[in-house]
Amino acid sequence: MIFIKKLFLYISILCFICGPLFAKNIPGKGCKELVELYQQEWNIKAQYSAYAKKADAEGFLQAGSLFRAVLKAEEIHLTNLAEEIKHKGGNPQDPVIKLQVKSTQENLDELVKQESKTQSDILSGSLKKARGAGDMDSVRVLNDICQGKAMVLGYLKLLQKELPAGKKGKKGYAICPLCGYLIEDSNPLRRCPLCPIKRESFIRVN
Ligand SMILES: [Zn+2]
Repeated sequence: MIFIKKLFLYISILCFICGPLFAKNIPGKGCKELVELYQQEWNIKAQYSAYAKKADAEGFLQAGSLFRAVLKAEEIHLTNLAEEIKHKGGNPQDPVIKLQVKSTQENLDELVKQESKTQSDILSGSLKKARGAGDMDSVRVLNDICQGKAMVLGYLKLLQKELPAGKKGKKGYAICPLCGYLIEDSNPLRRCPLCPIKRESFIRVN
């Protein structure tokens, strides 16, 4: 009887120590990369906000419009990232903002550099890791961010060529409210390519 009691005790201790290692959602598991990305994205969001004001002040209407649209998309990405981090038991802390506002031309060049780096970091880091672990919730969130950044980078690079012309007028943009996918308003897309949201539900930013 004593032997059985001891055995039961040992098994209980073993389960207590090792149990979390085998659980699918260990608090904080896979969170480090997501929290780092959250903080990186938070900084980028702050940049878009400040750079939009600067672009408007310098009369670069098209740049101001695009920066405000990406700011909205970033807010959606951050909400989705924060939910995924919390789901894993992590804490999406807002970082201390590191921000330097220069001329719109320089700000635009900085954004292209940063967005390219963040996209390549996600592809080779957190997204690759999440795919390897079969963590499909994280894969979905990270893939939405990557695909969104691919569109944004296209628009930013186009703006690099057309910045002076963008003083004359601006384009409107439409953003998927669920995943943050961003397109030009003139794009005939009928629904989001990443999620089931229809075009009429997209948020419009001018
Ligand atoms: Zn979507």
